Parts: sequence; structure tokens; C-alpha cells
Amino acid sequence: MIENQPDISIGNILIIDDNPENLRLLSRMLIRRGYEVRQALNGAIALRAIEIQRPDIVLLDIMMPQINGYEVCKSIKDNPETAQIPVIFLSALDEVQNKLKGFAVGAADYITKPFQFDEVLVRVQSQLTLQSARRKIIELNRELEQRVKERTQQLEDVHAKLLKKALYDELTSLPNRVLFIKHLEATIKGLQTDPNHQFAVLFLDCDRFKLINDSLGHSVGDQLLIAIAKRLESNLPNIDILSRFGGDEFAILLTNLTEPEIATKMAEKIIDILAQPFSIVSDPIYINASIGVAYSQADYTRPEQILRDVDTAMYRAKSRGTCCYQVFDSTMCKNALSFLQLDTDLRTAIKEKQLGVNYQPIIALETGKIVGFEALVCWDHPQRGLISPQEFIPVAEETGLITEIGNFVLRQAGEQIYRWQQQFKDIPLTISVNITPRQFTQSNLIYQLDEIVEQTQINYHSLKLEIKESAIMDNLKTAQIILNQLRQREIQLSLDDFGTGYSSLSYLHSFPVDTLKIDRSFIQGLDEEPEKLGLVPVIINIAQKMGMNVIAEGIETAQQLKKLRQLNCDFGQGYFFCPPLNPEQVVNLLLSSPQW
Ligand code: C2E
Ligand code: MG
Ligand code: MG
Repeated sequence: MIENQPDISIGNILIIDDNPENLRLLSRMLIRRGYEVRQALNGAIALRAIEIQRPDIVLLDIMMPQINGYEVCKSIKDNPETAQIPVIFLSALDEVQNKLKGFAVGAADYITKPFQFDEVLVRVQSQLTLQSARRKIIELNRELEQRVKERTQQLEDVHAKLLKKALYDELTSLPNRVLFIKHLEATIKGLQTDPNHQFAVLFLDCDRFKLINDSLGHSVGDQLLIAIAKRLESNLPNIDILSRFGGDEFAILLTNLTEPEIATKMAEKIIDILAQPFSIVSDPIYINASIGVAYSQADYTRPEQILRDVDTAMYRAKSRGTCCYQVFDSTMCKNALSFLQLDTDLRTAIKEKQLGVNYQPIIALETGKIVGFEALVCWDHPQRGLISPQEFIPVAEETGLITEIGNFVLRQAGEQIYRWQQQFKDIPLTISVNITPRQFTQSNLIYQLDEIVEQTQINYHSLKLEIKESAIMDNLKTAQIILNQLRQREIQLSLDDFGTGYSSLSYLHSFPVDTLKIDRSFIQGLDEEPEKLGLVPVIINIAQKMGMNVIAEGIETAQQLKKLRQLNCDFGQGYFFCPPLNPEQVVNLLLSSPQW
């Protein structure tokens, strides 16, 4: 006897039997055990009862008028909403076939009458337990599915974020180089299948962006880039993709180009819109851009090709000054080729010792005597003969070879001046060596200078470095540090070609510069218009007020020398005195104790 109430689940039971006495008896006992019980006297009532409220379990007689138990069971099982309700047949039919038929229509169990109430109770309870376990599994499944769905969503979100990171620029949110190249690749393919799909690429580089970064700080630089991106985005409709390529470079792809002017007009427009000041800090910031333009060509098969050409065009635009655009044409390619050739030859020249150093005297105008020399690299090319440093130094600067060449010149010049100082002890000689911007900002410049001074035994004070103004102005922060290190060693500093660059004397005041070398174009002016001295007196005046001395470069005539002496210019250099000489010629010159 099971006396206790069922401990697992008290269920809602529907009993279906055409015998009211059976119904009453069974109900009473089940109710006493705590079940909720409903009764149905025939199949039709039963099915309606099930529709109104789903029972947890059905106890079903088989032999009933109209609809028998099998049919009732089948209807329950056929309806997906009720199919899960367990049905236990309670029947006097005890043949195996009857039982088999019962299970065939979906019964969960089969009890034969007359029955023991305890048996009914145990079987009901075990079906209910099963049922609740089944429900639990379904519930767990549902939860699992939900969780999988959430996880999938999370994964998709992360994936989308990663994709954005890989293809978009974090600072400006513009498509990055990778995405741009993808588009470009597709566009090039498009042109191959349809020659009408002409396109153009515009490549934009901000001029003097580094100056802003160095002087106003990187965070202002970042804000400026964001502002540039926004301005371009909102002012340039109809472009296919605007991308930040990195640094201060942006690229634009224009497809469906019906006429080439669309691209050049856009370049003009970009120059215009970027010329408007940006207000990021209290003072307006002005920025210019140089733009290269390259049109689609049938022989472009890969993005690199058009990007290479548009980059060449951009550099050409830059070399023409700021605020320019330049359309690529194939002659530029030839220049690029000759650049490559020069680079190759230069590497051979270093290996095969074709490079040498000449020395041009620097004269104190007051006494007319030599006080030092400028070291000038020279290259005797086996096929081309003498090549001017003006041609190969910029190539070396761009490829990085300048480090090696610069070191060579410094060492040669150091050794040479030491020898002359020993030989001509009564002449205080200095040596001036030209340093390019790249050499100037190279991290180990000071270390190299120390090494050379130590090895050649020259005095720091007899070494002068000649740099162009731009080397300082383009690298304000680094320049300050380097200049201080030079100052500590008493290495002197000249600003070469002064007057051709920024010429912001007021700014330069804060840097420890010893000498201004006035560019020879100003000196030539002294001849051409004898009455008009141009800027020369002004430069000399200001330099002397700021405690700097002045060298006039490229003095070619007695007239020029006379004018410079009248203006109290300290030093002079030029063909009028002497062209650059090889070391042997220098010794002969010094032996003759010249005076001008
Ligand atoms: P720079 O430093 O302004 O050198 C002066 C240039 O003017 C030299 O040209 C010199 O030969 C030339 N020159 C001197 N007197 C006169 C004159 O009376 N009239 C004219 N028209 N020219 C005169 P060079 O040797 O062809 O050098 C050209 C430039 O190449 C130099 O200009 C300098 O910027 C660079 N350079 C030369 N040697 C080196 C070097 O060893 N290292 C680096 N980084 N640059 C160098
Ligand atoms: Mg120089
Ligand atoms: Mg010069």
C-alpha cells in the first residue's frame, strides 16, 4: 500500500470511462491522494475537456460507445498540442493484441481491469515523473538554444568589430588602406571586363603636417586629421571611397569617370576646402595639401601600379610647392627609373670608392684670409663623369644611403682638417660639413660625431655643421634636443642656403645657431641691380643683432665682394676666391698664403 501522497508531482488527471461507478471510485481514491481529477463519460466529452484544459495525464477506458478509447487516444496523439500528454489505458480487455493496439495508437501504459489501486497509483506517478522530466528536458533545450543564439550574436558582434578594425581607420573611421585597395582591385577588374569603366585615384598628402604635430602636440594633430576627414567627407559627394591611408595621407577613388576634368576639378576643390582654416586650438590652423592624380590605364592590372604612379604624381606636386595637384604622366615614370638607376650606381660608387671630397675655402672678408673650408662630396662616375651632389644627394636622402655617404664625408673631412691644422699651425682652420635633414634627425648623429672627433683627433670647436632651415622647422622638437647636444660639445652650426626656405628669423632666434649662409641667389642679385641690394643688408643686420655671423655663398665677382664688405658681411665663399679643390690643391693653396 502506498499511503503517502505522491511526492514528486501532484498532477491534473482526466479519467475517461463510460461506467459512472468506475469513474467515481477511481476519482475518489486519486483525489484522496492529492490529485486534481476531472471525469468524462465518453470520448466526445473527453476531447472537449482536453481542449479546455490540458490534463497532465489521461486514464482511458477502451470499450465505450460511439468513440472508443483507441480513437480517443489517436486524436490526442494526432494533435501536436496534446501529443505529449501520456495516456494510460485502463481496460478489461487483456488480450495481447489489445495491448499492442493500445501502444500502437500511442499509449504510455496499459493496466488491465480489475486493477489494484496501488498499481494504478504507481503507474500514474511514474508517467507523471517521466512527463515532468521530459518537460524539464524541453525547457533545458529551449534555454540552451537561447544561449546558443545569444552566443552566436555575440560572436557576430565581435566579428563585425574585428572586421571594422581591420578595414577602417580607428582615428577617423574612414576606410583604411586595406579596404581601399580591395575596392581598387575590384575597380581594376571592372575596367578589364568593360573598357567604359574609367576611373581615377587622387592621393593627398598634407604639407607640413609634421610641423603641426611637433609644435602643437599629437593630440591636436589627431583632432586635425579627424577634422580634415570630416571636411573631405562632407564636401565631396559622388566619390566611391575616401580612405585614410595612414599618417597625413588620404586617397580617393572616383569611378564612372565620364570626363577626366572631374578628377582635376575635384583636386582643385580639395585644395580650396582645405585652405580654409581649422579651428581646433585658439588660433586658427592653416594646412595645405599636395595632390597626385592618376587615371585608369589599360595596362594597370594590380592596385600597386596605379598607387605607385599616383604617389609619384603627388611627390611631383609637392616638389612644385605646396597647394598643388599634379596629374601623372608616363615621363614621370622615366624619372622614377633614372632615380632607381642613380640609386644602383650610387651603391656601386660607395663600394668602388668613386666618391671623394673637395674643399672650398671660406674667407674672412675683413682680412681676406682663409679661415676654413666647406667639404663638398664629389662623384666621378665611370660613364657619366662628374655628377653634381645636387643630383645624387636628394636620391641618397630618400633611399637612406645618405647615412653612409654622410659618415664617409665627415670622416674624410675630419682627418683632412686635422692634417692641415698640424701642417699649418698658424692658420686657425675650421671645416664645414653639410648635413641633410635625414642625417640631422638620425638618432645616432651625436654618437657618430663623437666617434669621428675621437678618431680623427680634431677639436669639436673646429667642426661646423651646415643644415638647411627646413631640417629644424620640420622637426622642431627633435631639433631642439640635437641642437643642445651640439651646443654642449661646442660644435658650430650654420644655416645653409638661408633665404630660400622658411626664413622665419624670429622663430630661429630660440635655436642656438652660429652662422647664416646667405644663399647665392641673393649674392648674384648684388650685381644685377647695383642700386638695389635686396634682402642682403636686412639679413646681415638681423643676424648680427641676434649674435650670429654671416657667410655669403657664391661670390663670383669683385663687385659682389665689395658690396659685401661695405655691408660688414663676416665671411665669403665662391668662385671669385676659389672653386672647390682636391686635398693636394688645398695644400698648394695654403702654402701660397693667399689673401684677397
Ligand atoms: P651648398 O652646401 O650650398 O654648397 C655650395 C655649392 O655651391 C657647391 O656646389 C659649390 O661648388 C657651389 N659653389 C661654390 N661657389 C660657387 C659660386 O661662386 N658660384 C656658383 N654658382 N656655385 C658655387 P656642389 O658641390 O655642387 O654642392 C651642391 C649642394 O650639394 C651643396 O650645396 C650641398 O647642399 C650639397 N652637398 C654637397 N656635398 C655634400 C655632402 O657632403 N653632404 C651633404 N649632405 N650635402 C652635400
Ligand atoms: Mg653647404
Ligand atoms: Mg649653400
